[in-house]
Amino acid sequence: MKYVSTRNPAVAVTASQAITKGISADGGLFVPDAIPAVSTAEIAALAQMDYIGRARTILSMYLTDFTAEEVDRCVHGAYDSGFSDPKIAPTVPVGDGVAILELFKGPTCAFKDMALQMLPHLLTVASDKAAPGTEIVILVATSGDTGKAALEGFKDVPNTRILVFYPSDGVSPMQKLQMCTQEGANVGVSAIYGNFDDAQTGVKKIFTDPEIAAKLAANGMAFSSANSINWGRLAPQIVYYFSAYCDLINQGTVRCGEPINIVVPTGNFGNILAAYYAKRMGLPVQRLVCASNSNSVLTEFLTTGVYDRNREFFTTISPSMDILISSNLERLLYAVSGSEKVKGWMQALSETGRYQIDDAAFAEISALFSAGCCNDDETKATIARLFKDKGYLCDTHTAVAVKVYEDYRARTGDATPTVIASTASPFKFSAAVLEAVGGSDDALDEFGMVERLAAVTGKPCPAPLAGLRDKAVRFDGCCEKEGMEQVVFDLLGI
Ligand SMILES: *Cc1c(COP(=O)(O)O)cnc(C)c1O
Repeated sequence: MKYVSTRNPAVAVTASQAITKGISADGGLFVPDAIPAVSTAEIAALAQMDYIGRARTILSMYLTDFTAEEVDRCVHGAYDSGFSDPKIAPTVPVGDGVAILELFKGPTCAFKDMALQMLPHLLTVASDKAAPGTEIVILVATSGDTGKAALEGFKDVPNTRILVFYPSDGVSPMQKLQMCTQEGANVGVSAIYGNFDDAQTGVKKIFTDPEIAAKLAANGMAFSSANSINWGRLAPQIVYYFSAYCDLINQGTVRCGEPINIVVPTGNFGNILAAYYAKRMGLPVQRLVCASNSNSVLTEFLTTGVYDRNREFFTTISPSMDILISSNLERLLYAVSGSEKVKGWMQALSETGRYQIDDAAFAEISALFSAGCCNDDETKATIARLFKDKGYLCDTHTAVAVKVYEDYRARTGDATPTVIASTASPFKFSAAVLEAVGGSDDALDEFGMVERLAAVTGKPCPAPLAGLRDKAVRFDGCCEKEGMEQVVFDLLGI
């Protein structure tokens, strides 16, 4: 299998090269040149395996230049320890044919762990093949959860450095504390004045600047990306949709081959894109429902075919979805329209902030995707209702998905068994969740709120969050957008 650039199919590389490079030199994203097929019989076989076995099977189909032993090492390295649930990503039924896929059992209590616990292992194997002897420099722009998950995944991994930029006014206090207290000898963290898109644009610019690349090369270093544009992030995410389907078979919710719907709280379009690839591989998925908060650029795109980022930016209680440019959407556009059209649309996006896809592409996307959005008040009301009616406590991002699904089901009457992706522990967003369930108290600090939330709901706070209180702050710097390049050099000591 080769990986091609979404902006130039003549650029064809191995899985190792795609993972090491992260992004193609032409600005495009790497995509497999053919989607592997999984039969119903193979899905039935997956249902008999544990999560490790499911991951090994699915990932080998994409990592075609890895040996079986290398895939094994990556899968075990990622999931043998660090997850608080032996099922890794449990599927929890909440009634009415709906199940919550809990993707937050990793060390940072958010779904990014599912991929970022594995990426360092993939990268170590891949870079040994693609560029032996080079020190990998990971550069991350984060809206909160990616940064911490990447720092945890890469900390003290030999031959790697990791630098994280986060928007000073766009992450929760808990997320900020998680990053500023990060341990490890090869890590660096800085805030920037601006929002997530500023951070991401800045990182992309540094990443593709040939002069900076030359300076790194002279020091035996090379950039790689841990952002959700890296194929090494997407591949492990495909696994858990197969795994959830297997769980539904084992729970008696579906028979093998029967369709399900999947609902995903969406920001950069990575998580839902993984579900799209699972569907293309043969997982019986009927509809993919894309859920957004008040930053509803994807809702508009999926219902009209017009992508327009020229709109007000909202800072919401689901900050990991506060995004106006969803980078991974480019891979979906490539899948339905090819590189020539993608190039034109991406150019229009960078020049005018807007593009409109053609009727054929829109028809193909509409046949599979539904979309909806909800605001902060609806999010909180949903957390309260789900907890009161079902005893299930969810975080703000998951609540957006639950609300958008409820609206979808009411609008369509579609009662197909449904998996809703749950992307964070409610304790990571204690202030908003506490307000939703009626326990707010302005006098409480972040840890006071965590304790109050546990007391009010009777749910335990995950250990990695409870333990933050006693950690020292190591990184408290904040730079201007224009200053990011210098921060990179300073943190690398070059
Ligand atoms: C990253 C994140 C999302 C959005 O996922 P994408 O892959 O960017 O669409 C949703 N919820 C949480 C908690 C996240 O950390």
